[in-house]
Amino acid sequence: MKKALIVIFLILSCSTENNSDNLNSKVEKLISKMSLKEKIGQMAQINLTVIAKGPNKWSSFEPLELDIEKTKKAILEYKVGSILNTTNNQARSPEVWNKTINQLQKIAIEESESKIPIIYGIDGIHGATYTVGATMFPQQIGTAASWNPNNAFNMAKVSAYEIKACGIPWNFSPVIDLGQDPRFPRQFETFGEDPYLVSQMGDQMIIGYQGEKNQISDSEKLAVSIKHFLGYQTTISGKDRTPSYIPEHVLRELHLAPFKSAIDLGAKTIMVNSGIINGVPTHSDHYLLTEVLRNELGFEGVVLTDWEDINKLHDRDKVASSRKDAIEIAIKAGVDMSMIPYDYEEFCDNLFELVEEGRISLSRIDKSVRRILKLKFELNLFENPYTDFKDYPDFNSKEFEKLAYDSAAESITLLKNNNSILPIKPGKKILVTGPNANSMRTLNGAWTYSWQGEKTDKFAEKYNTIYEAISNNFGKNNVKHIPGISYPVNQDYDKEPKFEYYDQYADKFNEALREARKSDIIILCLGENTYTEKPGDINDLNLHPLQKKLARELAKTKKPIILLLNSGRPRIITDIESLSSATVNLYLPGNYGGDALSDILVGKVNPSGKLPYSYPSFVNSLVPYNYKPSDIQNNSQGGYNYVGEVNYLYPFGYGLSYSSFKYSNLEVDKNIYKIKDTIKINVDVKNNSSILGKETIQLYSKDNYATLTPDIKRLRRFKKIEIDPMETIKVSFNLPVSELSYINLKNETEVEPGTFDIMISDIKKTIEIID
Ligand code: BGC
Repeated sequence: MKKALIVIFLILSCSTENNSDNLNSKVEKLISKMSLKEKIGQMAQINLTVIAKGPNKWSSFEPLELDIEKTKKAILEYKVGSILNTTNNQARSPEVWNKTINQLQKIAIEESESKIPIIYGIDGIHGATYTVGATMFPQQIGTAASWNPNNAFNMAKVSAYEIKACGIPWNFSPVIDLGQDPRFPRQFETFGEDPYLVSQMGDQMIIGYQGEKNQISDSEKLAVSIKHFLGYQTTISGKDRTPSYIPEHVLRELHLAPFKSAIDLGAKTIMVNSGIINGVPTHSDHYLLTEVLRNELGFEGVVLTDWEDINKLHDRDKVASSRKDAIEIAIKAGVDMSMIPYDYEEFCDNLFELVEEGRISLSRIDKSVRRILKLKFELNLFENPYTDFKDYPDFNSKEFEKLAYDSAAESITLLKNNNSILPIKPGKKILVTGPNANSMRTLNGAWTYSWQGEKTDKFAEKYNTIYEAISNNFGKNNVKHIPGISYPVNQDYDKEPKFEYYDQYADKFNEALREARKSDIIILCLGENTYTEKPGDINDLNLHPLQKKLARELAKTKKPIILLLNSGRPRIITDIESLSSATVNLYLPGNYGGDALSDILVGKVNPSGKLPYSYPSFVNSLVPYNYKPSDIQNNSQGGYNYVGEVNYLYPFGYGLSYSSFKYSNLEVDKNIYKIKDTIKINVDVKNNSSILGKETIQLYSKDNYATLTPDIKRLRRFKKIEIDPMETIKVSFNLPVSELSYINLKNETEVEPGTFDIMISDIKKTIEIID
């Protein structure tokens, strides 16, 4: 038996080696025949508008059609190897995608010298963003709030299928940045503020997209682009693409971990941080892009720039005195492909000259081209470049919809439930009000059928808004909708929006108050309209004053208020929070978010989401849960009386259920451990109620004394389980002592001997680590 296993193992490992030799020889054979111009073209990625019929390279005519002359210039004359994005910033049907991409492939394969297929890339952030009819899941922040990595896996699996149905084999997802700053306009695209949670979720997304064995040649799988390497969302200003100052040991301990894990799993491509760390624009950072990423982490895939970021080294950051110098700096730093995305002639000509002038070596170019061609071979694009939507019968199937619904239902987080006002008893007269009450756009957030999400209501009509879903469950006669406040809508979807995403106006404000007086219960839907990237920058994290005013006026009616929060980041609501009887955080739950919420309100679903970020109380108090001991210092001996506080309205990991859970008997297997040991931990969790419920057990550690002032606590493990009424489950964790390490000032991983607390819920055990 043993012998047979060894033989099978040898055969398998030989065949993997043969496959990779085969692949390498195909790449080498091709590259040996390619001209410099062809090689440079492979390193260029352009926007679809550049080659579509239209008035200029930034916009296109409708319906979408390729301009054959422009296409041939790009693909045949400039040999461009990659295309991204949609035209006019809107979703296309799978059939239109098939037609467009098949046409591009035909030109690339049948009319070019080397017959190299195009690699098309897109942002499918919580589903196939730019595809009409695609299944939209909660945004990553909601997925993280479900604390169930299967939801991340399912989202990626469904997205891969639906994006591949369009003929697109490359997705610029997942985002594995740390979302530690609630001001940042892309926190909702992250899995929240903890590196372990981000890694666990991110890993499952990679497996969902690329497959268990990274079998990206499979017709239902695609290549990921993990992004944005590295430290993108931790800026000083809280605004997009502004400077960050992150000491290297922090960069390594908190930000690098999810990327390391993703690379170890086999993530095929990576996108570079569009910002600037410690004065160095990341696109020019040889240390990060080559020494750390390639030499240390062993990343062998393709490094893609973010949008126009090589130009920005000159145009924005002023570290290159010309766009040509910027190309030299970026390529030398480690970039393989430039998301140009418009002025491709300039990029290709400049790069050509740089090689001719000897400023960039041919062997450096070959390194990048090898990686890009290898990816194209691995994706099976040479053998099977064309797609037929008919081969994807499960597109937006009932099964996919159910997965998106389940994910939304598990993510929605109950933050307050005074006197068990929820679930709402039958027969009540309900007023649904607030700017987020009747909008598919706000349920989904950005990257939904359009970049900023502003076109969602046009494409998502068939789904239920919060108001519609509540009327379905509680009966049309019992439920009334009056907005009170609205976000202005740009009526002409094909034109640039006239309004800022944060604009809002009183809309039947007094009518809402009148109706409130006649109702038994008020469901107040507050939050944000949709945004991402620079347009989503913010000057004040407070919830809009008009929305706070509506809450205050409604509270004067003395009717109970159920406050629903529907936003991409935790807006400050401290001064109105006490006005509600219950508070529910929806995040951006996707197309089934209204239904999932309504099922929670009616009691069909027991809520089980928990915050993946700290919900701050004040705008100047934004520390994440793993803050330092010095963040709290209320007393000092002598005459000084300090007020040093950490103020969370709701802490990281917090979320209620209709069940109540009781923790007891936290046990560790020893008192003293060596560094190579594993700590075995058990805890009993009881569902102390008559309702079936799900609970996420969170295991934290605390280093009591350390050379560098330690974090107050760190999440080390979590497990979400379902527990029957009055049932007790023993939950076990294994935690290698090595994971209690930190990164020291020499940037080395170190476990320091000493005492550590192991904490679950409000119980702790102190252990000792010895050398
Ligand atoms: C964003 C990326 C995105 C790219 C392509 C950039 O502006 O930062 O996250 O993948 O655009 O759309």
